[in-house]
Amino acid sequence: MLEDLIPARKLAHSCKVIERVEEHPDTTEKDVELVRQYLDDPNWGDVALANALTKKGIIVNRDSVKRHREKRCPCQQ
Ligand SMILES: [Zn+2]
Repeated sequence: MLEDLIPARKLAHSCKVIERVEEHPDTTEKDVELVRQYLDDPNWGDVALANALTKKGIIVNRDSVKRHREKRCPCQQ
């Protein structure tokens, strides 16, 4: 039951959005790559992206997307 423990330091600096994507059992490297592209894509609104991911079974909070884009995400600290 302890196999998914992650050292606190790593957790503190991981991206909240990417983390959710990686947690999904069917995610591939390509998916992670795509999400990074979507995060950089101004055509994707925060809510639209969060909703689209949630529909795919990846529960992402729009605030996580917003924080990442505003460089307030743990991955940018
Ligand atoms: Zn991030």
